[in-house]
Amino acid sequence: MNKGRVIVILGPSGVGKTTICKRILRHRPDVCFSISATSRPKRKDEKNHREYIFLSEKEFKEWIEKGCFIEYAEVHSNLYGTPKKSLEETLKKGHHVLLDVDVQGAMNLMKLYPNGIYFFIVPPGMHELEKRLKKRDTDEKSTIKKRLVNAIEEFKHVGKFKYVIENRTLNEAVSKILSIIEREIST
Ligand code: 5GP
Repeated sequence: MNKGRVIVILGPSGVGKTTICKRILRHRPDVCFSISATSRPKRKDEKNHREYIFLSEKEFKEWIEKGCFIEYAEVHSNLYGTPKKSLEETLKKGHHVLLDVDVQGAMNLMKLYPNGIYFFIVPPGMHELEKRLKKRDTDEKSTIKKRLVNAIEEFKHVGKFKYVIENRTLNEAVSKILSIIEREIST
């Protein structure tokens, strides 16, 4: 039986998941981050094996064939997956693992790790989400549009998750998440 728990931050793109994850890691040295693999091109400020393991589409498909992923999904026309071996090994050692995934990924993880702690992060509104995606300045206009359309689909699943956190202000959202993690882990 694993002693470590999975802690999953999910929600639409642009909602602030990456920043929330960084804050959680800063406050909880007992939590390790699961670095996903992706076939999406590397952004200019990203580093291989830091934000993601960057693979070509061909390599990603080879990893799928070899059963290297615990879950994977196509998100906004790119492939993203959680490497299986490192996740299982970390949990076996009794460490908690933090994951930043889309809604499909979280639903798959929930089947495998029903005792995980799942946080669906929502923006204060669609207009705010669009503003944040534009402000990030990492994506083309057409990509932003695709991400907003996907967000509407993703919101349909919000009721499946125990913890729904509105990211109105980062400090408030993070402090709610940290207190839930503390409570969940100590029970
Ligand atoms: P981005 O391209 O902005 O870094 O991420 C796009 C989306 O992919 C985000 O919603 C992010 O949470 C999701 N994502 C990142 N890694 C994984 C993963 O391993 N599995 C799944 N299912 N989604 C992921």
